[in-house]
Amino acid sequence: MKVLIVGGGGREHAIATCVAKSPKVDKIYCAPGNAGIGQIAECVPIGAMEFDKIVAFAKEQAVDLTIVGMDDPLVGGLVDALEAEGLRAFGPRKNAAILEGSKAFSKDLMKKYNIPTAAYENFDNAEDAIKYLKEQASFPTVLKADGLALGKGVLICNTLEEALAGVDEIMLDKKFGAAGNRMVIEEFMTGREVSVLSFVDGKTIRIMTSAQDHKRAKDGDQGLNTGGMGTFSPSPFYTEEVDAFCKKYIYQATVDAMAAEGRPFKGVIFFGLMLTPNGPKVLEYNARFGDPEAQVVLPRMKNDIIEVMEACVDGTLDQIDLQFEDNAAVCVVLASDGYPVSYEKGYVINGLEKFNGKDGYYCFHAGTKLTDKGIVTNGGRVLGVTAKGATLKEARANAYEATEWITFENKYMRHDIGKAIDEA
Ligand code: AMP
Repeated sequence: MKVLIVGGGGREHAIATCVAKSPKVDKIYCAPGNAGIGQIAECVPIGAMEFDKIVAFAKEQAVDLTIVGMDDPLVGGLVDALEAEGLRAFGPRKNAAILEGSKAFSKDLMKKYNIPTAAYENFDNAEDAIKYLKEQASFPTVLKADGLALGKGVLICNTLEEALAGVDEIMLDKKFGAAGNRMVIEEFMTGREVSVLSFVDGKTIRIMTSAQDHKRAKDGDQGLNTGGMGTFSPSPFYTEEVDAFCKKYIYQATVDAMAAEGRPFKGVIFFGLMLTPNGPKVLEYNARFGDPEAQVVLPRMKNDIIEVMEACVDGTLDQIDLQFEDNAAVCVVLASDGYPVSYEKGYVINGLEKFNGKDGYYCFHAGTKLTDKGIVTNGGRVLGVTAKGATLKEARANAYEATEWITFENKYMRHDIGKAIDEA
């Protein structure tokens, strides 16, 4: 088989690493890819939003399966564009990717089908939102831009003043662009957060192992929100009781709701869950693998990823027995100092070869580039260093040890990834 992966971050490197293990695959392309992906795939200089070029490339090369793992092309309809030309693609069509593309849609869906989530109201103009905040909201309250906003469109507001300023930012100043044409205001929830990924074929859902992300830039969950500074899997807080609840009220219910709406979902659904004192509730859905979550979940998957993805496309997922190793993994992101605000690029990365042949250790590339000086830093998040271990504590010790193998100027990382493990 020939496989094309669309994207060029740590998630795509983790996907490519799994795809490369499949005995069914003899050629992997990645558009646009990065320096690490380039070691196992042929990178082609096509951007993820250049639909015409991607479709033309897949046709020319007779690609058998295109894997779309990024939110923007999914929500924009890349899978539809590929299918229109008779090409096979893994990922939801546009009418199903709306599960991530519109928070107002996903909230209404959950309400209609009784899927546990925070109480909310949707707004399509600032005056109504302001009136609601002044008359009915309790604080803290949560403001969410409706559309895709690079993970930054959520504001937690402690006071009415903050919330009014937030409405201005989202709906009037359009800080998140068209994503702010509509807005959700929802109840603030407390509890631990857990991420659960799943494969879906339109009707059947297979749950992957759980994971937990660290979104803030600095130790102690301080600093700005980022694309993710590290992850661990499984989450010790995702107990059998939580799993049973989510299976009963959330997972299949979501898949059935999408099918009932005439929007059958095929691909990966990411459930962002909050384990509240009143039980698990859905914080958000994503229509794809989480980037840092993929880097701890996929290395633990036992199945041939191509078999699973083809079953999602063909609607035969009920025949797949999804299995994960009975161990743990921790990923620590090595970033450029100053991320997510401003940072320098172009520094040579040393030590990458130390991962060669080391079973259970992975160095996933995110912002890297191959130049005549060698592989250099080319983004805020540069590498994701993942290590497995028999236990979470062992995996964490291994991952932090492996972060020392890599050096580059302005290297920055959090030192408390997985600290929550000690509280379990
Ligand atoms: P989202 O993109 O909707 O997952 O929101 C990003 C982050 O904001 C989440 O991971 C939570 O930490 C926080 N958040 C979102 N919604 C709520 C809520 N209703 N209550 C408390 N925190 C929230």
